[in-house]
Amino acid sequence: MRLRPTLDFLLYDWLKADRLSERARFADHSRETFDAVLDTCERIAREKYAPFNRLVDTEEPRFDGEKVVLPQATHEAHRAYVESGMVSAAQDYDEGGMQLPYTIEAAANGFFAVASVSIGSSLLTKGNANLLMVHGTEMQKQVFARNEFGGRFTGTMCLSEPQAGSSLSDITTRAVPDGDGFESDPLGPRYRLKGNKMWISAGENELAENIVHLVLAKIPGPDGKLIPGTRGISLFIVPKRLVGTDGQLTGERNDVALAGLNHKLGWRGTTNTLLNFGEGRYPVRADQGGGLDGRGAGAIGYLVGKPHEGLRCMFHMMNEARIGIGMAATALGLAGYYASLEYAMNRPQGRPVGAAGKDPSQPQVRIIEHADVKRMLLAQKSYGEGALALMLYCARLVDEQHTGTPEAVDEARLLLEVLTPIAKSWPSEFCLEANSLAIQVHGGYGYTRDFPVEQYWRDNRLNMIHEGTHGIQAADLLGRKVVMEGGKGLQLVAGRINRTIEAAMQRPDLAEHANALARALQHVGAATKAAWATGEPAAALANAVPYMQAFGHVVIAWIWLDVALTVPAGTRTPAEVGRLHAARYFFHYELPKIGAWLRVVETRDPTCATMPEEAF
Ligand SMILES: Cc1cc2nc3c(=O)[nH]c(=O)nc-3n(C[C@H](O)[C@H](O)[C@H](O)COP(=O)(O)OP(=O)(O)OC[C@H]3O[C@@H](n4cnc5c(N)ncnc54)[C@H](O)[C@@H]3O)c2cc1C
Repeated sequence: MRLRPTLDFLLYDWLKADRLSERARFADHSRETFDAVLDTCERIAREKYAPFNRLVDTEEPRFDGEKVVLPQATHEAHRAYVESGMVSAAQDYDEGGMQLPYTIEAAANGFFAVASVSIGSSLLTKGNANLLMVHGTEMQKQVFARNEFGGRFTGTMCLSEPQAGSSLSDITTRAVPDGDGFESDPLGPRYRLKGNKMWISAGENELAENIVHLVLAKIPGPDGKLIPGTRGISLFIVPKRLVGTDGQLTGERNDVALAGLNHKLGWRGTTNTLLNFGEGRYPVRADQGGGLDGRGAGAIGYLVGKPHEGLRCMFHMMNEARIGIGMAATALGLAGYYASLEYAMNRPQGRPVGAAGKDPSQPQVRIIEHADVKRMLLAQKSYGEGALALMLYCARLVDEQHTGTPEAVDEARLLLEVLTPIAKSWPSEFCLEANSLAIQVHGGYGYTRDFPVEQYWRDNRLNMIHEGTHGIQAADLLGRKVVMEGGKGLQLVAGRINRTIEAAMQRPDLAEHANALARALQHVGAATKAAWATGEPAAALANAVPYMQAFGHVVIAWIWLDVALTVPAGTRTPAEVGRLHAARYFFHYELPKIGAWLRVVETRDPTCATMPEEAF
């Protein structure tokens, strides 16, 4: 694996992550402790994840009528991850955590995703438990979150429904108070839930004692009707097996039933489920005459936070979840890059262009000697390593948000507002493109299951779809993030980019790139204004995806220029030459593409919006 040297460079030489130990929260840490975490994760990924990546792809999860069966390797990978302490690594010492900075945690997660992105489902458990630590009661933290951190329980996020994916305001799962005294349950106000949740990752498995579902549902208004829009949405803890206040299972099965497993293109190591809540498959507390039908139907759920504030609680965790998706997409892009680089260095095929190649008696060259193959490798390197740097930059902002001065906290918050849609979406699109190029480098072999690259592509194809589709992220960026608070977030991003430009202007070898980036940044600013010139969202947002592509390319160009600034003039190591070349590739082959993308944005090109349906 070549990930480690790249991570070391980005973390320490570029981001100066070791300086995080100057913060009170991280005072016990140092480069040594960070390295120890990275070493452990790298080893577990190498031993427990990588060897089984193909296995979990071919041995899909299967339902035997009682339980979901996963390969033994999945159980072992899960156990190794839990035992490493990584589920609770970022938590306080008092909580059994290591107070590890998110920057280091995000970097460490890269090892697992490169090795086998789908074998572990711990990211969801972590997100679930983190949310409860912020919005849960003391008892909910104690009973649910701490057992998730400790590995006894796993967690899910149940937002989507068959008829409500992007548009969560249209969910129809309902939650009604569970009898008299429902409000005084020590685990939180107790409700009965009924509805169907679609696409739930890790929704059923036997990896741990219990599954803690976090479920969005609507509490009906006084007229018994569901409140339209997102206002009506509340958040509930729905354990698969009921738990007492001591955290022990009560022996009661909650009314949550697996309706079916989804059979996916990729990411097959993680189950994906349709779950029925409250349909009476597992009547619960029927002897007390409880439930929706007096016979125990209805999944028992405990309210988290206040009624009708469920989405707000969920969104609290979104930045980290989305950086997590971007990191997974990035890691898959890098995995394909590493595989195709190795292949290109060993595959003999063809002879050089020109006279020297005309002699068939001469040996063939390795394909890495062809300029076009180098183009495909450089594209992958510039996408994958550029995205990795952006992910770590955003993770560093998350740490700033948690430990900075009030001013720095606010600045980090606004920067993340603007950068997060890009951190999630840019790698999802361009590291997927990297995977496609990795297949291309392999030629016909890349199209077979004898080589790993087709799986990387299939696994990566998910990332433009979940956690907010590409289109939804783009609308969020152009429709909300760059205009919110008077455009302050956009100005802050521009300020940081300008700082890099100014520094690069001083370097004769980078001044050309600095000028190109300055022009590109101006172009994005002008296009943002032009998109909103009529003030009509329909006109502005019709080309939100090209806008996000252009903005993302400008951000990655900035990141590459900033990385290039770390390379000294004079004698350079091969790694440094590689970084400069990747930066040059990005500036010469990629950044110019923003012209076409921004043109349709600034002219509010109506071609797509006005195409009549019947004309398709
Ligand atoms: C493998 C996998 C794992 C998942 N895991 C989970 C999970 O653990 N928990 C969970 O709750 N969900 C999960 N999801 C669900 C995922 O978040 C949804 O699939 C996603 O939000 C899209 O919803 P949808 O599939 O209903 O598509 P739709 O919302 O129907 O979208 C279809 C297309 O229409 C576009 N579109 C929709 N609305 C608009 C609009 N207003 N403007 C412009 N374009 C629009 C979309 O961009 C998309 O291209 C998972 C999905 C998959 C495939």
